[in-house]
Amino acid sequence: MRLFIAIDLNFSMKEELIYLAKQIKINSDRCSLTNEDNLHLTMAFIGEYDDPKKVISALGNISFNEFDIALSHIGYFDRRGEMLVYAALEKNKELSSLRNKIASALKNESINFDNKKFLPHITLARRVTGTDKEDIDRIKPEKIKMTVNEFHLYSSDLSGKRPVYTILSSFKAI
Ligand code: ATP
Ligand code: MG
Repeated sequence: MRLFIAIDLNFSMKEELIYLAKQIKINSDRCSLTNEDNLHLTMAFIGEYDDPKKVISALGNISFNEFDIALSHIGYFDRRGEMLVYAALEKNKELSSLRNKIASALKNESINFDNKKFLPHITLARRVTGTDKEDIDRIKPEKIKMTVNEFHLYSSDLSGKRPVYTILSSFKAI
């Protein structure tokens, strides 16, 4: 199965993200907005892996204190002429530290994951066309904050029209 590790977002954060996503839609010709239920912050992408129990036991040893995250700005990655537009988070030592703990836990158990530089972002829209950097830069998030007190191991089923994410296990702050 396809696995990833992510932080879920609370109501007020989602409310703001949904508002921002609408601004992206209005300012573009075409785009595919992330389904509201699917908004999340990916901490690590594992991909195809058939032993979720092994991942659960690796992550089970992680200890972390709850911390806050805050929205900073709207950014994008250029994907061959189309944009993936995301909400970026304010620089955050505790979030980076949690990512490092997750990465070490996976490495210790030889569980492969995408180990590119961690750029914490919440994907709002994919395949965005007919907009430009200036339009995107004009969309300004409210500096919404939320407390992170758990993260989850998710499976991702891409066989249907929309991705279906399912929580397999949750890992709480101490
Ligand atoms: P789709 O691929 O159909 O657009 P999706 O990207 O939401 O849907 P997945 O591809 O299963 O679903 O990805 C799950 C999460 O992991 C998403 O947040 C995605 O951005 C992230 N992700 C996917 N591939 C990678 C990767 N190679 N490196 C880092 N994160 C990734
Ligand atoms: Mg994907």
